[in-house]
Amino acid sequence: MPRASEATLDSPVRCLHGVGAERVAQLDRLEVRTIEDLLLHRPRRYEDRRNIRSIGDLANGESSIARGRVVALGVKRWKRGTRCVFELILEDGTGRLHCRWWNLPYMGNYFKAGDEVMVFGKVNSLKPRTMDHPETEIIEGGEEGSIHLNRIAPIYALTEGLPQRWLRGLLWRVLEQWADRVPEPCPELSPADLPARANALRMIHFPETFSDIEIARRRLALDEFTGLQLAIQRRRKRLQANARGLPCGGDNRLIRPFLRELKFKLTAGQTAVLRQIRADLGGGVQPMRRLLQGDVGSGKTVVAACAALMAIESGFDVALMAPTEILAEQHTRVFQRWFEPLEIPVRLRTGSRDTGKGEEDIARSGNTRPGILVGTHALIEKGVSLRRPGLVIIDEQHKFGVVQREKLVRKGAYPHLLVMTATPIPRTLGLTLYGDLDVSVIREAPAGRGSVRTFVRDAGKLPKVWAFLREQLKRGRQAYVVYPRVEENDRDDVKSVTGEWERVRAALAPWQVGLLHGRLESEEKERVIGDFRENRLHALVATSVIEVGIDVPNATVMLIENAEQFGLAQLHQLRGRIGRGTHASYCVLVGKAKTAEARARLRVMERTTDGFQIAEEDLKLRGPGELLGRQQSGLPRFRFGDLSGDLELVERARREVREFLKSEGGRIRAGGGATKGNS
Ligand code: ADP
Ligand code: MG
Repeated sequence: MPRASEATLDSPVRCLHGVGAERVAQLDRLEVRTIEDLLLHRPRRYEDRRNIRSIGDLANGESSIARGRVVALGVKRWKRGTRCVFELILEDGTGRLHCRWWNLPYMGNYFKAGDEVMVFGKVNSLKPRTMDHPETEIIEGGEEGSIHLNRIAPIYALTEGLPQRWLRGLLWRVLEQWADRVPEPCPELSPADLPARANALRMIHFPETFSDIEIARRRLALDEFTGLQLAIQRRRKRLQANARGLPCGGDNRLIRPFLRELKFKLTAGQTAVLRQIRADLGGGVQPMRRLLQGDVGSGKTVVAACAALMAIESGFDVALMAPTEILAEQHTRVFQRWFEPLEIPVRLRTGSRDTGKGEEDIARSGNTRPGILVGTHALIEKGVSLRRPGLVIIDEQHKFGVVQREKLVRKGAYPHLLVMTATPIPRTLGLTLYGDLDVSVIREAPAGRGSVRTFVRDAGKLPKVWAFLREQLKRGRQAYVVYPRVEENDRDDVKSVTGEWERVRAALAPWQVGLLHGRLESEEKERVIGDFRENRLHALVATSVIEVGIDVPNATVMLIENAEQFGLAQLHQLRGRIGRGTHASYCVLVGKAKTAEARARLRVMERTTDGFQIAEEDLKLRGPGELLGRQQSGLPRFRFGDLSGDLELVERARREVREFLKSEGGRIRAGGGATKGNS
């Protein structure tokens, strides 16, 4: 163990004076392991202990702080001792305050008569003056008083057995000893308008005014965003230094007949994006790294097809990655229809199946025509072996992680990369996650789409909803009925597709109802989707497997039960399955929203079909992990940064890092840093 004098910010907390094995274990539960972790342990809230109220002045219904001496305490029990209340009576010369804790008899162990106690809570009665379950802290005399009293005091998240006062004292001492040793992470980027990092740490723990807290938070948040931007932009710079884009701009010889045969005209948005892509694919400079954002149904697939044609015209092969087998198969079918008249080979490769000889055809056999290989993540795992990889397209990026993306592109000699996402990513997240990608957005959907109206209903209205569905089926339309689970479990009463299927069949008789979920064999899945597409099945009971890619324009109704189980962004994706044809579409959300908040959340879906707005709401309500899928979001944990509110700081970090790296210029060595650029 390093001696205290040799310790660094990375040293474990046990190097600190007064931190023994028990405290180490408690801090570990708070994910505080090093001295730096401790300095970054952000107070959960603050208490203004400069204005302690006299007990006699406490007003009913207000949250306040008071202090007093314990004059009486004890536990009352009733119902044969199964219920109890612990009561503590404080006196400060102006009045008495009763503090009560229900069914927590051990609270009595913490206090004794004569203790000076500080309490924070809401007064809920004046006869006698009472606070229920206040937060408390015993005041001890001596010079330590200046740490805990007469100031804005930090209140930390704690864990069993760890006293607030002890942790605050530790932070005070550690700041005294360590704050000056906290370096500026990147001196060239230190903001002139914000305090030094060392000061920001002092201010976040022991602010002199309430405005100090936000100033300090901004500085520490900026450091987090800057660190991430440095990593992202350095990676990108290494790529630029090491790689030359392949010439994949094409000569229009395939695109021209393709567009002529297409049943529709590209929208202005699609054309504009294609112009950007063509410029990127021209070659000579760095390979394309582009993110294409477009709401569900905005027509990204045809853009991907045109990009693929450019590469194929230039004699290169293309890989197209989809997040699910269903989507990979759907893409294969669409591309076969589009490309086979042009004599371009289209192959499918997923985890469970290959078409024919799979990528062998493209890779090594006598067939040397450039073509497209469609697949799922199996493409990454088994290795793509394209003969001349020119372009990699990843559809529905939110299902893939940043790491996977890197892996895939490194398979070849830096092919161009086009990432397509329907998850409208709020700008902060986009800049954070995709800071190394150029961004194109398709804003308008193709014309001629029917509207989608959304209704939130209670389960009690289900009979009417079924009648409405039958009415739509009778008119020749088709419906999705979505449940959150594949199977029921005993822990809750969330409905499942297997549990409800028979019931839905009965409710929709005489119409034909299919069942679709992720655990079916892929042949079964394909058969069900095929039958639905051909209108041999009139309704589909499905899990969220349908959220990406299924394109059946005649399906115009979607009923989602237990809608409260889904995130808003996910509901938006699901809803994107309808409204694809010219008929008016209807989405009915049946939820068991217990709280007003949960109901308000579903109502957002009634108000707007703007995916960006919905994603912003989701980010606010559930955080980035939920929006993107926790494990693959690839986001570091921010202690101070707030992705739903710090757009301006994120943009600032990005801008300043860009300027900095430009001036740093040649000082970046190729392959330097944590990851090697060319492996
Ligand atoms: P997404 O962006 O969600 O992947 P798709 O590419 O699946 O959307 O397109 C949705 C539907 O819109 C498809 O049936 C597609 O053929 C059609 N589509 C795409 N572009 C146009 C257009 N310019 N005009 C009319 N229909 C279009
Ligand atoms: Mg799509």
